Amino acid sequence: MNGTSGETPAERAIRQIVIVGGGTAGWMVAAALAHHLRHTGIGITVVESSDIGTIGVGEATIPTIRRFYARLGMTDAEVMGATEATCKLGIRFTGWGGPGSDFIHPFGLYGQDLNGVGFHHYWMKQRQSGDATPLAAYSLGASLAEAGRFDLPSPNPPSSLSVFDWALHLDAALFAQHLRRFAEAAGVRRVDARILGVELRPDDGFIRAVRLEGDREVAGDLFIDCSGFRGLLIAEAMGSAYEDWGDWLACDAAFAVQSRNAPGTEPEPCTRVTARAAGWQWGIPLRHRAGNGLVFSSRHMTDQQALDTLMPNLMGEAITEPRRIGFRPGRRKQAWVRNCVSLGLASGFLEPLESTSIALIENGIERLKALFPDRTFAPAVIEEFNDQSAREMERTRDFIILHYWLNGRDEPFWRERREAAIPDTLARKVALWKARGAFVRYRWEMFHPASWLAIYDGFDVRPDQIDPAIEGLDPAGLALSMGQMKAAVAGAVARTPTHAAFLAGLNGLRAA
Ligand code: FAD
Repeated sequence: MNGTSGETPAERAIRQIVIVGGGTAGWMVAAALAHHLRHTGIGITVVESSDIGTIGVGEATIPTIRRFYARLGMTDAEVMGATEATCKLGIRFTGWGGPGSDFIHPFGLYGQDLNGVGFHHYWMKQRQSGDATPLAAYSLGASLAEAGRFDLPSPNPPSSLSVFDWALHLDAALFAQHLRRFAEAAGVRRVDARILGVELRPDDGFIRAVRLEGDREVAGDLFIDCSGFRGLLIAEAMGSAYEDWGDWLACDAAFAVQSRNAPGTEPEPCTRVTARAAGWQWGIPLRHRAGNGLVFSSRHMTDQQALDTLMPNLMGEAITEPRRIGFRPGRRKQAWVRNCVSLGLASGFLEPLESTSIALIENGIERLKALFPDRTFAPAVIEEFNDQSAREMERTRDFIILHYWLNGRDEPFWRERREAAIPDTLARKVALWKARGAFVRYRWEMFHPASWLAIYDGFDVRPDQIDPAIEGLDPAGLALSMGQMKAAVAGAVARTPTHAAFLAGLNGLRAA
């Protein structure tokens, strides 16, 4: 307790929230809380330093981003217009399984489950009859991405064959500005100053205020640390230790560089992640430019080797100098300590392979809304927040490790990743997949079974057993249904405009 017992609920209520940091995380939580708490009179202040700036990367998202801004009343067209965004149907992995390998992890389903048996079992059965049709041919999301086409999914899909979801590639700086405009219009106060120190209450160690340059301070009841990797409040003031996952995720550095869009090229509706000698390269198409970067292991590649790998392979002519960003995969052991909640890079970072960081921020915000405290900061609330955050990070970590562990490349980095130990939670999932073609679904799992299926299939990891319930299926009937499904997907792709045509019609979408 911190001296508030005996007060009425109204007296115990939070009155001032201080958000430290004005990067993607800071402005996302500022906008979301300003909207969520709009009937409460709670004051929200964002303290950021334009001298320090933001990390300036983070441009590939997953579909949850669209739910995030829809809750604020923003439309797809509005956000896409404000952020020079393109559409993303999934991620294209090139070279991960070895030379020439290529597959797409789509945001969508594969085929149609039937009689309680997953579609992939029917597909495997059909393969046994000699039909080599790839699994992706039964996924509208993967097939559209492959064909460079895009249109909005049907709001009432006639079958699971029409189900896919989509996300954005967006300019992170423009996104933060858009959220900032929204938040400021909703009453959020912004202070542009460097924080020099944190004042703790002597009796209980809660944060009382942050001390700014110019002998000023900003006091509050609840502090949200969005200060980036440094964790100005959560680590430096609250002492939350860092759990290092470097043994499982070996990449610890990146070079990021922006490029001009090459004339005559059309933006792909997927993020490109191409395996390189000791890491992987990203390519993110935006409407006004492209984002490029190389994520690598500094134990296996020097900075110069990384630049020599990245710079000749950009999506167009470079328009910025390559910028090095070092990182340590892992998480804060406690994301919330006393009256300090951390979000974004301050709370941990995996690596950007599956574009999960912004999604983790969104989920952290939803969690904070659902568990919004009063000034007693009940331990049960904090424990639940920390438990959910930890589980979600671990599940996401496992999904990313899987990509490295299944790789089929020959360089020392990749051999090491293939031979490295994996967490038990992941080993259990892989064992079940191999034994029975089934998926483990834990709570706080960001990736659905279809995503796991995409990765297993992309690396040609097949179960030992087809569901016994369909062993005796009539081959002719199966071939007919599979053919119909394939034709339905191919027909839908043929009727869909190109991604470029969709983007050109965005103004129409805005008016709709
Ligand atoms: P930052 O952007 O670092 O913001 C920190 C803020 O704190 C800034 O406003 C800064 O001024 C302020 N601050 C710090 N110290 C002080 C101080 N003393 N006083 C005042 N203010 C201070 N995520 C995705 O979802 N998709 C991706 O494709 C993706 N790609 C990535 C690629 C790389 C190489 C890396 C490293 C990350 C990537 N991420 C990606 C993660 C993503 O960039 C971050 O999750 C996101 O930008 C949020 O960052 P942040 O707001 O937590 O921190």
